[in-house]
Amino acid sequence: MRFCSLASSSKGNVSVVYTDNTKILIDAGVSLAEIIAKLDALSIKPEQLDGILITHEHGDHIRSVGALNRKYGTRIYCHIDAYASLITKLNKIRPNSIFTFSNTAFAIGDFRIESFKIPHDVPCCCGFNIYNNARKITFATDLGCISEDIISRFYDSKLVVLESNHDEAMLMSNPKYSLSLKQRIKGDQGHLSNVVASKVVSRLAVNNVKQVILAHLSEENNTPSLCYKTVCDYLTAIGINPETNIKIYVAQAHDMSPIFHIV
Ligand SMILES: [Zn+2]
Ligand SMILES: [Zn+2]
Repeated sequence: MRFCSLASSSKGNVSVVYTDNTKILIDAGVSLAEIIAKLDALSIKPEQLDGILITHEHGDHIRSVGALNRKYGTRIYCHIDAYASLITKLNKIRPNSIFTFSNTAFAIGDFRIESFKIPHDVPCCCGFNIYNNARKITFATDLGCISEDIISRFYDSKLVVLESNHDEAMLMSNPKYSLSLKQRIKGDQGHLSNVVASKVVSRLAVNNVKQVILAHLSEENNTPSLCYKTVCDYLTAIGINPETNIKIYVAQAHDMSPIFHIV
């Protein structure tokens, strides 16, 4: 299976996971034109999509979900606990095109998918383990804090996509953000900081994870280089080599990531 981040930031998120036979998006939070152009760069046509996995209902994740559904009939997969609120945020969609899942695994084509709930300020936000031939990719962005149970779901993953949203000092000194917004972002239902992401990555490095993509960076309160440096410095300080023990990538807000081949 292959993974590519098409866009990743607090302003818009979409990723694609695909094999020759099955192609799914995780979220669709940028314009339809951008999604189509970036899928085209991967030789994927929107008609080929087998579905969109929805993490949660915020606009930076669902902006083009309705448009993809209306234009191409793309199926929408969301957690049963997210359905009622999500449906109010999507414009008209085709009948019978939302599929709900619960906490048990389900299949889309070549993939077996497990969801797990992560803490965020919506009725239901999900992370995912996506399996193909017993290998898994883990995806978890938009989480205000992280528990042992959530971390354990990342172990043995061939690729972990993890939020590293903000530098706390940049956030707290940002004059454009109100105190209440800063508290929302920092809170247990908000977003993970670079420091917390560093601690999570250090746990993954000793639990059979070899590569991590740091994702969903704030364009206002973080930079890719600061995020990368914070995580690498933390790992190095505790004796983990960020080149050889665990490879760190940073997803860009607007540019596509490399294609990660999971074999
Ligand atoms: Zn988001
Ligand atoms: Zn969100």
